Amino acid sequence: MVDAVIWDIGYLVSAALFIMGIKKLSSPRTAPDGNKMGAQGMLLAVLVTLGKMYTDGIIGYELIVGGLALGSLIGWWMAVRVEMTGMPELVALFNGFGGAASALVGLSEVLSRLQSGNVPEPGVELYAIWVAIGLSGLVGWLTLTGSLMAMGKLMGGFYIPFTKKDSRGRRKWVNFPTWGPPWLNLVKVAMLFVSLALVVLTIQEPTNTDYIYGLVASSCLLGILFVLPIGGADMPVVVSLLNSMSGIAAAFTGFVIGNNVLIIAGSMVGAAGLILTFIMCKAMNRTLIAVLFKSFGGSGRETVTRTKVGSDPEEVAMVCDGISTCVIIPGYGMAVSQAQHAVKEFADLLESQGVEVKYGIHPVAGRMPGHMNVLLAEANVPYEQLIEMAEINLEMPECDVALVIGANDTVNPVARSGEGPLAGMPIIDADKARVVVVIKRSLNVGYAGVDNDLFFEDKTMMLFGDGKKMMNELNSAMKEF
Ligand code: NDP
Repeated sequence: MVDAVIWDIGYLVSAALFIMGIKKLSSPRTAPDGNKMGAQGMLLAVLVTLGKMYTDGIIGYELIVGGLALGSLIGWWMAVRVEMTGMPELVALFNGFGGAASALVGLSEVLSRLQSGNVPEPGVELYAIWVAIGLSGLVGWLTLTGSLMAMGKLMGGFYIPFTKKDSRGRRKWVNFPTWGPPWLNLVKVAMLFVSLALVVLTIQEPTNTDYIYGLVASSCLLGILFVLPIGGADMPVVVSLLNSMSGIAAAFTGFVIGNNVLIIAGSMVGAAGLILTFIMCKAMNRTLIAVLFKSFGGSGRETVTRTKVGSDPEEVAMVCDGISTCVIIPGYGMAVSQAQHAVKEFADLLESQGVEVKYGIHPVAGRMPGHMNVLLAEANVPYEQLIEMAEINLEMPECDVALVIGANDTVNPVARSGEGPLAGMPIIDADKARVVVVIKRSLNVGYAGVDNDLFFEDKTMMLFGDGKKMMNELNSAMKEF
């Protein structure tokens, strides 16, 4: 009895650490402390659970220690291998792992109960436990396969192992499909009903494992079908929704195994992910239903046939001389080229000449929520200079130079029209500035695969090349000017 109170107090402290940690994440200044608090809360939850299991009497520690060792090894291997640009895919994969872990715990609980004959009589207890098991499986498996699809889409495709390498040493590359005929929506809804019906059947016949494995299969298929048609600019919404679902699956699993801290932590991840999903929907000017069923993603990538003569850094440095305002608009290419420090140096050079510099941050710029904020914070850009899209757009008509570094979809004026994968998505109005400088390697399309008129406007100067290299050349030209 005393033990039970101690463990509950441990869980309470760990839940309090999670809540305070999330609160601190709301400001960039306190976010690192918030992160630490969350990690401490998780460590405490793990220690309390191990202690609780020790006093409750467990079969052995071999599997736990083995699992911890294997998980830590895989986590360490992934963390040291991943490049900054691979983080979004890794986040998607981790969402999937979260869903799979919850689903596997639910599955092992139901199988061990069947093996030991510990199935409650029909009644409230059976309904409560079996509904929780069914829903943790449904949401967990769906999150796993949906996240794997999302990861494939973020990578754009995958190499086929053991195929012959080309002259650049790369194996055969297969593009990841984005496919969504209108009738697929009917199949998705039908599969959802089939999965829910299987949850009901597992309650009616708890000992029939066919229904349980049927639910695993239908949930996995549902995850694939839901993410298959989504592509283009709508991926951020899907990734944050899957993040929320991994939390919801964990909360259901907490009910299954009667673990309070899992219920609390899962609910918090579920709620935070859902809030982020709606923020992303708002940023994209879409409803969640529209993202899930309308398939804005588009199926192809436009081929650019137009040409534009590039400018050189000296010309741009000349244009920047004597200006009073500059808005820097970063995008995915800044992350790829790791140009954030060179961008900050450019801003410092302008500021030393009395130019007012601000950064226009699009909510879906890059490949994960907050991608640009993280990179610019790493380069010590003051947070007050990062201005949200709606606010910076009010200033764009008065802006002398808009420097677009590695952004494409988020500044594509075609989004203002009613057609294509970007239709209706709010953009940063770079095209309203007096002069636009775009740094990217070519005229190629961005993530959504749509050609961009901005690059061909008379007032746009294209600096073709790797983001970091071009920024460094521009900075040198500015110093010499
Ligand atoms: P985009 O993906 O639209 O465009 C990035 C551009 O960067 C490319 O056109 C590319 O052009 C250029 N680029 C790539 N590498 C380099 C390099 N080394 N140096 C310079 N430029 C480079 O970026 P945006 O940030 O504008 O838009 C983000 C897109 O990603 C949106 O469609 C968004 O919906 C989607 N997305 C966002 C997620 C999020 O959570 N933020 C998640 C998933 C998708 P080039 O090849 O010519 O150099």
